[in-house]
Amino acid sequence: MDRETLVSKVDPRIFGIGDATDLPVSKSGSAAHFEAKVVAERIAATVRDEAIDGKNARYDGHVMCFLETGYEQASQLVFDYHHPPDPPKPSRVYHYEKIAFNQAYWYLVPKGLV
Ligand SMILES: Cc1cc2nc3c(=O)[nH]c(=O)nc-3n(C[C@H](O)[C@H](O)[C@H](O)COP(=O)(O)OP(=O)(O)OC[C@H]3O[C@@H](n4cnc5c(N)ncnc54)[C@H](O)[C@@H]3O)c2cc1C
Repeated sequence: MDRETLVSKVDPRIFGIGDATDLPVSKSGSAAHFEAKVVAERIAATVRDEAIDGKNARYDGHVMCFLETGYEQASQLVFDYHHPPDPPKPSRVYHYEKIAFNQAYWYLVPKGLV
């Protein structure tokens, strides 16, 4: 896939997302989530025959996930194509943020609020 447009280099009618891509990011639900906005925008624009220039027109490799480190502590991995992960010191704050995120997942993520 083109790493920004998520369009297949073999056939421009094919879009790629998630674990099925060859993008230089982690195979993760987080990556698939952020890629989905780009693919959705591109498919919608293509169907409507509109220009593809909205805020989600390109994927920058953004991934965000929590990393449990034990003892009720966690860190956070945030990175993209241009910024490698620089995880903060593990703390309970991230651990409880992760628990809160898990609880709120179905209210926030499928609605596109996050
Ligand atoms: C144990 C484990 C823990 C993980 N933890 C995390 C985590 O904490 N955070 C995170 O971000 N990511 C995590 N991941 C990774 C995350 O689950 C995947 O990256 C994500 O689910 C990929 O989404 P996807 O839609 O690309 O593929 P999938 O979720 O694998 O979806 C593909 C779907 O296609 C279906 N399918 C396959 N072949 C066919 C076919 N021929 N016809 C029709 N349907 C088909 C499959 O049944 C499946 O439902 C974890 C993965 C594992 C295995």
